[in-house]
Amino acid sequence: MNSRRIFLQKASASAVAISIPYLPSFSKPFSRIEEQPTQSDKVLRVAIMGLGSYGSRVAQAMEDSKRAKLVGLISGTPSKVEVWKEKYSIPDKNCYNYENFDAIKDNPDIDAVYVITPNALHKEQSIRVAQAGKHVICEKPMAINAAEAKEMVDACDRAGVKLLIGYRMHFEANTLKVVKMRKAGEFGTIKFFQGLSGFMIGDPTQWRLNPALSGGGAMMDIGIYSINGARYMTGEEPIWVTAQEVKTDPVKFKEGIDETITFQMGFPSGVIASCLSTYSMNNLDKFFLNGTKGFAEMQPSTGYGPIKGRTNHGPLDEPHIMHQTVQMDQMARIIFDGVEPEIPVDGREGLKDMVIIDAIFKAVKTGEKVSLG
Ligand code: NAD
Repeated sequence: MNSRRIFLQKASASAVAISIPYLPSFSKPFSRIEEQPTQSDKVLRVAIMGLGSYGSRVAQAMEDSKRAKLVGLISGTPSKVEVWKEKYSIPDKNCYNYENFDAIKDNPDIDAVYVITPNALHKEQSIRVAQAGKHVICEKPMAINAAEAKEMVDACDRAGVKLLIGYRMHFEANTLKVVKMRKAGEFGTIKFFQGLSGFMIGDPTQWRLNPALSGGGAMMDIGIYSINGARYMTGEEPIWVTAQEVKTDPVKFKEGIDETITFQMGFPSGVIASCLSTYSMNNLDKFFLNGTKGFAEMQPSTGYGPIKGRTNHGPLDEPHIMHQTVQMDQMARIIFDGVEPEIPVDGREGLKDMVIIDAIFKAVKTGEKVSLG
């Protein structure tokens, strides 16, 4: 892994409108996942697609998972498959490459495929997995724009399989504590959110800096945490965005790769968010939520943890468990037991972030306030 993370107002009449006819309403009541009884002990048998840096972390995390087990591999690199097969005792019959993985449909020993490849590949790969009748877990960003994300949601609906996005923070204990406190009114009326997400990217030849594979720069990769965080921390969906881009190195951060974007979002109640996404600053991993009666601050707020922070009531000191272990346990419960997570992780949730990213890019390009809705 490169250098990452060792890191209402109503829109004005002149605003540029982004139409999102397919954006679903946010109507489902939350019910906290830990409070729901586990209905089975069925283990989710997972194949990982993309044996890279994050795939390695997920595989390691599943070793401690009670409800998810790594049973299959999909990779274009035979030498990696050999090493992983040995390490995780994976049988040959559960190993595929990018050409033949559609045959997974005939493999009764695999329930789900976790897509952990470069962003621009997610759509096609996820749809092929769905068409093979397997549940899809896909890394963030789920796609490179909202239209692609919508295709994925539709394909999984049609195939009758679940589509879950790798939003590990949605299961993190301190994050859930803050969300619960906010819902209980402990911060009063929420007024403001600040999200700072960034790290200094290294190797200029990596796929993250190739727009054909990444679909964008820091925003797709790390800025998405501030977008997603603004939504779960405030509990609202933005109705407008404004954004400004700064590029100090146009060679490394070529056309289609954003280096630094500051963006603002407005929410229906009048909450405003002010956020920063960057590939050029280290130690940027901070959330701040302010309400009429209190506040929550988290730093680090979305790194691999432990997540640290405090509220006006005191420190956030929930125990740290490897995020990906908790995520995989809870995703098994979502898939097999039908439980609803406190903060959704389904494809429609991922689509909401993609709609906002499209709007931020449009706001950068036009210099105008972009309406959502
Ligand atoms: P990586 O470069 O370490 O791994 C990518 C893998 O995809 C490699 O094994 C590579 O061989 C494979 N691959 C398949 N086709 C490829 C192609 N055409 N070009 C390049 N590589 C190809 O990247 P990563 O850090 O593991 O990121 C993978 C995905 O996981 C990204 O979508 C990223 O946003 C996401 N991610 C999520 C988190 C998180 O905390 N949720 C953290 C890191 C990465």
